[in-house]
Amino acid sequence: MSGNPHTHEINHPLKILVDQLLDFWEGVFYTCTADHPLGRNVLLALILVVCDTEAAHQVSGFGSHSATYFCRRCKLMKSQIGQNFDPEAWPRRDLEEHRAQALRWLNASSEAEHQSFFETSSIRYTELLRLPYFNPITMTTFDDMHMGLLGLIDTHISDVMQVDHSNNGGEGQPVISGKRPSNLHHPSPLTAPWMKTPQKILGKDVLKEIAKDMKQTILPSWMSPAPHPSLWARQGGEKLSAEEWKVAGTIHVPITLISIWGYHYEKEPQSQFFQILLNYLHMVHALCILFLRETSAPLRVEYRTRILDYLHSLRKLFPDFSIKPNQHYSVHAVEDLENLGPGHARSTPVWERDNGDLQEMNSNRRRGTKLISNFHSVTKYTVVGELEVTRMKTYCRQGNLKLVLDNITDPVLLEDFGEAIDALQAMELEDHRGMFSGTDLSAWTSPDRDFKKTPTVILL
Ligand SMILES: [Zn+2]
Repeated sequence: MSGNPHTHEINHPLKILVDQLLDFWEGVFYTCTADHPLGRNVLLALILVVCDTEAAHQVSGFGSHSATYFCRRCKLMKSQIGQNFDPEAWPRRDLEEHRAQALRWLNASSEAEHQSFFETSSIRYTELLRLPYFNPITMTTFDDMHMGLLGLIDTHISDVMQVDHSNNGGEGQPVISGKRPSNLHHPSPLTAPWMKTPQKILGKDVLKEIAKDMKQTILPSWMSPAPHPSLWARQGGEKLSAEEWKVAGTIHVPITLISIWGYHYEKEPQSQFFQILLNYLHMVHALCILFLRETSAPLRVEYRTRILDYLHSLRKLFPDFSIKPNQHYSVHAVEDLENLGPGHARSTPVWERDNGDLQEMNSNRRRGTKLISNFHSVTKYTVVGELEVTRMKTYCRQGNLKLVLDNITDPVLLEDFGEAIDALQAMELEDHRGMFSGTDLSAWTSPDRDFKKTPTVILL
């Protein structure tokens, strides 16, 4: 698919996918596989939709993060996002109601009618609703990379505390500006008084301290280093990656802020700097729980407590800041921890890398299709693009080549293939720190992996 499809245009490629998923829901018989020469029946279902908010809402038929009903789990209105931090008071979405509204949208007779339905419900039809088991409300998950690292850490450092390389940092007090923030239409008793000219909190003095501490901090070998603080401000479209924000936001910033502001507690517990520090640490604490490879009822209670403490203190300390949808979604994330377990199994970084590979692959503008008729019924075919076939062949060739090269013992052949063996070994030793090592798929790149035990397939 080239470019981003516009709203419901995503349904065209989804239809192809759903047609195949419906076949696999009933079972598809492969006449021969590597482990089962007499064939194998294969059942397959779509378990989760995992992607960033824009794509997730489009695929599952929800309005965007700026729609009136911006959340895929509840029907809190966008106008209430900065005032209502009580999850028990959020009206939950209902599957039957969702299906009815989606079908109403589908049966609209004109584009104007489509738009009218969408504006009142923030729901569009998605082909995924043809899957009898699919629930777009519970099966469209929150991705901890986009929601946590970019939606919370990047937003808090870049938009809440803000980075200033020219001036020293301040207490970030808000000022009355021409543009009234949405939070303040209904001022809460927690709203802090407006005091003086706003100052960006992470000024050049604070950044200098962070840089100094970074030099003395030894990271675990499996973590990739964060860029120097001089590169943290968003400039010219350049921004830190999710992994860089994770290291900067959960390690370097806490180390320095605790050391320079933590002592304020002894002098004045209610000091603005100390409260800003506490607010930040509530978020970091919640994220550390979110990124754990295990979960439990006490951990989930702790996560929910911390994330709600973060939002309450954020509203109190920064009333000029409009709460973002990702900050609201972060409260719902505890539901995924409970229903789906720890987030690493559904984390997206490895697929983001895959997207990058796909975009860089030279396809010569050929989408092409191949028909593969290896189903039990000769009348059934699956359509596979040339790109997919090329990638599968490449993976298999690489696995088979590794197997062959590992078994060469003849010294003459070893010399002849020395260059190829060195190249493959160099690929295995590539820098896989950071996000890549944070996924279970890192096992596939382990030098200890024994290709001899891995079934391989030869495609001709
Ligand atoms: Zn919600």
